[in-house]
Amino acid sequence: MSSGIQTLPLEVVDLIAAGEVIDSLAAVVRELVENSLDAGATRIVVSLWPEHWRVRVADNGCGMALGDLQQAGAAHSTSKIRSCEDLWKITSLGFRGEALHSLAQLAELEIWSRPAGAGEGWRIAYCSAGKAIQVETAAIAPGTVVSVSNIFGAWPACRQGLPSPAQQMKAVQATIQQIALCHPHVTWQVWLRDHEWFTLSPGATTQQLLPQILRQVRLSDLQQLKVEVQPHSSLQLLLGLPDRCHRHRPDWVRVAVNGRMVKLPELEQTILSATSRTLPRDRYPICFLHLVISPNQINWNRHPAKAEIYLHHLSYWQEQVTLAIEQALRISPAILPEAVHIERVGKLLKAAEAKGVYGASRSIQPAPVETQEKAHSLIQLRAVAQVHNTYILAEHPGGLWLVEQHIAHERVLYEQLLQSFQLVPVEPPAMLKALSPAQRAQLQRIGLDIEPFGDQLWAVRTAPALLQKRDDCAEALLELSWGGDLQAAQVATACRSAIRNGTPLSLEQMQTLLDQWQRTRNPRTCPHGRPIHLSLEESALARFFRRHWVIGKSHGI
Ligand code: ADP
Ligand code: MG
Repeated sequence: MSSGIQTLPLEVVDLIAAGEVIDSLAAVVRELVENSLDAGATRIVVSLWPEHWRVRVADNGCGMALGDLQQAGAAHSTSKIRSCEDLWKITSLGFRGEALHSLAQLAELEIWSRPAGAGEGWRIAYCSAGKAIQVETAAIAPGTVVSVSNIFGAWPACRQGLPSPAQQMKAVQATIQQIALCHPHVTWQVWLRDHEWFTLSPGATTQQLLPQILRQVRLSDLQQLKVEVQPHSSLQLLLGLPDRCHRHRPDWVRVAVNGRMVKLPELEQTILSATSRTLPRDRYPICFLHLVISPNQINWNRHPAKAEIYLHHLSYWQEQVTLAIEQALRISPAILPEAVHIERVGKLLKAAEAKGVYGASRSIQPAPVETQEKAHSLIQLRAVAQVHNTYILAEHPGGLWLVEQHIAHERVLYEQLLQSFQLVPVEPPAMLKALSPAQRAQLQRIGLDIEPFGDQLWAVRTAPALLQKRDDCAEALLELSWGGDLQAAQVATACRSAIRNGTPLSLEQMQTLLDQWQRTRNPRTCPHGRPIHLSLEESALARFFRRHWVIGKSHGI
């Protein structure tokens, strides 16, 4: 922002979607914190006095020199773009140069600012036309403080149309949380009526932010994935693991593009489809998708608040998102959230056991950069025993797992059925009694060959290959006649055909099942959304058995 604030030429103004919409306290906060982020701030303090219609935002960003500060409230004045071509190179959140001007019109606007390196700061109060009316030096830290008071004071109708202060504050909180997710490196402090209301600590990635916002979600419930898709584009995915968390509503299926949450229903739908059949019925995933892409692929001028955009190459992005979700759902060494930790704890313990505690810290290496290949390799899972003829006890280098045999097999069979739902002849035909017209239509819809065979009797001459040899084939077909689409029929078939709990298995059979299960696309849950495995990681075992106590304490090590 060193090039200073200038008024945009008219031809640029004409190309920009009509004015910023400042219609609520949340919108005031949004505009101010976006300015702070554009100024490179890493610490933002928001203070709110809703009863007094006052908002103040303080940041440690680059600040403004006096000349810029005098210009900041003028219409269409910005330091972020200059010409029409710049509209295709937008890397900042703001660019229209209208927010401060609108705020000067709607409220009493004052700004204190001091650029880094400047000996002093300035305070300016603006008139409703956005002109500086009071200018004085001010002793402040480098950065900017914007105070907006008596918001909508001259617009009583606007105030009356707004919801209660409590509801407005909810909207403010949601706004800050959404922006924070897109900018995880920032520290946020939010004050309400002179008391600290909430804070958000910075994190290296969104994974550290989400548990601060959704209290019931833990860090280890989330899988984070970053995929570089083109030289200058990346896709960051944060996915709640389907066996650990999900929601009643699709309220946490969120998409951001270049630092801003947007409504992109097409991509939201892609996320829902890619996670379907991994969650229980009527449950929705927690998913935050952030695309960082070349600015020339986005047109921000679809919507005045930039909440909707035109995104080029949409179907390409849909494909990438589906692939990324598939990768995040797999169980593989690289993708295990505990993997890094296990490696570290393992090394720490080895080093500590070998040489006492002093050498330990040096041996903690950063986790190696995961390659694509590693992401697709399998964990070395070894079947050790069967428990209660129901659970397979399996060990791997980082701990041990209990795998529920029926559900794991159900997942395997379901994915096989998705690949090929083969219908084969049954000889003799399965005889079904007293089918209603709807049941007959249903069986035909999923492709079965069915014909009348006498009074209230029908012969079914084909069946899904998995059911063909079963004693309960007729019963299974009856179940299929009760409704649902082809996918529901596949789920039902898989469930019926999977190994029952209570069935003894040999080690070899268990190993085969484990291997097949690990290779499935969604090994975490069965098609009904039930979790398949329970993990007890080495790190947790070491903690539980207090292995660190031994180190250098009583045995002279
Ligand atoms: P826009 O963000 O679209 O450029 P605004 O009206 O929001 O327009 O802000 C006008 C200009 O004021 C910005 O372009 C920027 O140069 C300056 N500005 C606003 N807020 C800050 C801030 N917190 N820190 C530094 N500069 C700021
Ligand atoms: Mg702005």
